[in-house]
Amino acid sequence: MTRAEQAVVVGAGVSGLTTAACLAEAGWAVQVWSAEPPHSTTSVVAGALWGPSFLEPMAKTMSWTNRSLEDFVALARDPATGVRMAPALTVGGPASTAEIPPQARSIPDLRPAGVDEVPPGFGGGSRATMPLVDMPRYLDHLAGRLTELGVELEERTVRSLDEAAGAAPVVINCTGLGSRDLVDDAELEPVFGQHVILSNPGLDVLFMELAMTDEWTSFFPHPTRVVCGGVRIAGRTDRTPDPDLTERILSRVRAVEPRLHDAEVIDIETGIRPVRSAVRVEVERLGDAHVVHNYGHGGNGVSLSWGCAREVATLALQLRDESAGRL
Ligand SMILES: Cc1cc2nc3c(=O)[nH]c(=O)nc-3n(C[C@H](O)[C@H](O)[C@H](O)COP(=O)(O)OP(=O)(O)OC[C@H]3O[C@@H](n4cnc5c(N)ncnc54)[C@H](O)[C@@H]3O)c2cc1C
Repeated sequence: MTRAEQAVVVGAGVSGLTTAACLAEAGWAVQVWSAEPPHSTTSVVAGALWGPSFLEPMAKTMSWTNRSLEDFVALARDPATGVRMAPALTVGGPASTAEIPPQARSIPDLRPAGVDEVPPGFGGGSRATMPLVDMPRYLDHLAGRLTELGVELEERTVRSLDEAAGAAPVVINCTGLGSRDLVDDAELEPVFGQHVILSNPGLDVLFMELAMTDEWTSFFPHPTRVVCGGVRIAGRTDRTPDPDLTERILSRVRAVEPRLHDAEVIDIETGIRPVRSAVRVEVERLGDAHVVHNYGHGGNGVSLSWGCAREVATLALQLRDESAGRL
């Protein structure tokens, strides 16, 4: 393996692990450096529903999300990945099929829900089949895939991307909110979220209220737990769980699904979404090396992960070919 085919991925959340997998599968010698292990990242907290993205750059995030859909559909064929195609009920979305935005048209099996399928108080709704990702198991799956590809995960805090550029000509920056400090990106905004994790009393259908408010109703059933939300508090970085939020989440999900009354509270989880004016996937020169940024995915990082990772792999290949052309 020549130096030209070596890459360091900084970050071991869903963006870093997926990007490392794409690069390693394309033949790169990859190292992953991360301040925290996968189970301590924002990614492990995500619910995590694959869904349409309305983030900038709009045309690109739509295509990345659709690309990810293909990968998640394939992953769902093996339950050991932690991904399944789940029956979904969404409420509060477009009132008619004609109003469905282009971003949402790729949702599998999308159809209006019957009046009797929507709980009281929510107006209309839609039924669909959507990839639902049990993040702790999924991150383990990705890490296992990397081990099989010979990629090592090293716990290491990077103070400057130059450190990584000393080890490889291509550095991939997947540090999420960490990029606020690492690359001085003032455009990144922390947006707090909190989940209540309940035991699963036998639920299969995921429920998601599409609302523009800071609190909404959602519950995502996984085999052994149900992830209940949702909350967004812009600017809050304190991850201490808020007991009032917990009570409000519980009362909302139990009003929709009475079986959740008897479910045991297993955990309260919090995380900070890395929101940015636009998802950043782009190349920057770093002395003799290059960095490909891949961060700022807001509340859609899981949904965007495969599309962004594949774009990064294409950009890395172009960099390698350009540098070979200069020799
Ligand atoms: C409550 C909540 C619910 C969500 N639900 C969904 C959902 O349903 N669907 C969806 O698609 N998305 C969802 N998201 C969003 C999703 O979780 C994020 O967009 C995604 O996790 C971002 O992943 P990442 O890998 O870019 O960042 P992270 O997971 O934050 O990983 C960043 C990595 O970089 C490392 N790092 C940072 N700085 C440094 C440094 N200086 N040196 C070395 N390493 C560093 C960290 O240790 C970590 O390993 C949700 C988020 C929250 C908080």
